Amino acid sequence: MMIEEKPEKNSGAEWWAERTKKLLDEQKTSWQLLKINYENLAKIQTREFTFEDFGIKIQFNPDRIKSSSADVSDVAIKSRQCFLCLENLPAEQNGLVTIRTFVRLLFFYVF
Ligand SMILES: [Zn+2]
Repeated sequence: MMIEEKPEKNSGAEWWAERTKKLLDEQKTSWQLLKINYENLAKIQTREFTFEDFGIKIQFNPDRIKSSSADVSDVAIKSRQCFLCLENLPAEQNGLVTIRTFVRLLFFYVF
């Protein structure tokens, strides 16, 4: 279900930042899968390597394998529903209506 909320005219970036944060907080309590995946972010391990004139940071996320190993064959992709179309969103996923044709959504690796 979408949150049909429109900011007052001239609402700026601060309003959107605050409302998006509130949406995330709400979704963490109302969407169990999101909550679990968010908690799983604590399992991420990082390591940094420094070289002479640059550095890299490597991240290992054990739960990322679910989406990293997804079937990306033509057949599999064509048989999937578009995850951007509103009618295909998980029932628990909410968003903010920005203007008539755009909706702000929070996307996480939830599948
Ligand atoms: Zn679509």
